[in-house]
Amino acid sequence: MSDTVLVVGAGPTGLSAAAGVASIGKKVILVEKESVLGGAPILSGYAKLVPSGEWAKDAIGRMVKRVEDSPNVTIHKSTKVVKVEGEAGNFTVTLSNGQTANVGSIILGTGFTHFDSINKPEWGFGTHEDVLTTTQMEQMVGTGKIACPSNGRVPERVAILLCVGSRDRQIGREWCSKICCTVSTNLAMEIKEISPTTEVFIYYMDIRTFGLYEDKFYWKSQEEFKTKFVKARIAEVTKSADGRLLVKGEDTLVKRPIVIPMDIVVHAIGMDPNEENPELAKVFGIGLEKHGFVDKGEQYTSSFSSTRRGVYVGGAALGPEDIDTSISHGLAMAMRAVGDMNALVQKAA
Ligand SMILES: Cc1cc2nc3c(=O)[nH]c(=O)nc-3n(C[C@H](O)[C@H](O)[C@H](O)COP(=O)(O)OP(=O)(O)OC[C@H]3O[C@@H](n4cnc5c(N)ncnc54)[C@H](O)[C@@H]3O)c2cc1C
Ligand code: SF4
Repeated sequence: MSDTVLVVGAGPTGLSAAAGVASIGKKVILVEKESVLGGAPILSGYAKLVPSGEWAKDAIGRMVKRVEDSPNVTIHKSTKVVKVEGEAGNFTVTLSNGQTANVGSIILGTGFTHFDSINKPEWGFGTHEDVLTTTQMEQMVGTGKIACPSNGRVPERVAILLCVGSRDRQIGREWCSKICCTVSTNLAMEIKEISPTTEVFIYYMDIRTFGLYEDKFYWKSQEEFKTKFVKARIAEVTKSADGRLLVKGEDTLVKRPIVIPMDIVVHAIGMDPNEENPELAKVFGIGLEKHGFVDKGEQYTSSFSSTRRGVYVGGAALGPEDIDTSISHGLAMAMRAVGDMNALVQKAA
């Protein structure tokens, strides 16, 4: 029996799980495939986070430091798990750096992959320089300057298109990505703060600023920052003769065609399953649900179980999730992993 926990993935979920396990006094082996810790908010350069308004590098940076400073956590960066043998309480794992370890439980915080806007070619990404994704726009906000990539001019109008790669049955993405409405209303305010002369339009099917985010983001963006919300179905983004972008579609409230010139168009990209999930399913012997996210086990008495005993899963690996919830999943998994290991040790004694 081993009472060490393996945590795979060092995003908000994995960092929270590792800190949780370490705080109970158990050893953690943390394996991250990238060379930096922090997950999507750091790897993709998010600007100020929803809902705290803190810069991602500061907020997630604190989570990284807490784990790096813990004497109970051994970190393997640029590393993957290549083999898992054994069973709950006594797994032998082999890492891509050739090392092996004996662990009692395994926590997967392997997250998601951002939707690739190339899969929506009619909306201009990859064709027109001034069509960006939310992560690219957040990186621009991080520089403190809003400018059109094509020629550096200050944009008069920015359009944010919601649900790009989400709620789209045509391309097999049926799910709502949960956080992109809130992120987009926040982004509109950030753009206005830096560039007050720029008008920001949000094109939407529905606005889903869930829970307490309704007044803090949707209403604030509309009332204080004058973001214009247009209920529309966008057909295509093309370029006009003067080099601006034309957003064409139908205003679904008045049922009329619209063609509006824009300087920058932002795709509010959604959350796809981690593209490595088929590989993770093989290595860890776990199931995937029909869209390709990791499948849950029984949740009412065995929360955060995967379909393999002793392997737990949470955060955006399970489906689109926000950071606060992912952090809670991480802590809950730490509790599950340590509790179940203790029960196995007691049973063996
Ligand atoms: C455009 C956009 C903006 C967002 N902004 C916000 C926001 O402001 N506020 C908010 O609450 N949420 C936001 N989110 C959601 C947020 O990104 C997620 O909630 C969060 O990243 C989930 O954390 P995670 O740790 O589960 O996954 P991730 O952040 O994806 O972390 C997973 C980690 O696992 C690693 N990994 C993956 N596969 C392997 C493997 N095989 N082996 C080893 N390591 C592996 C990855 O490299 C990564 O470090 C946003 C999402 C999008 C799409
Ligand atoms: S959160 Fe908003 S933008 Fe994102 S998929 Fe859901 S409805 Fe669309």
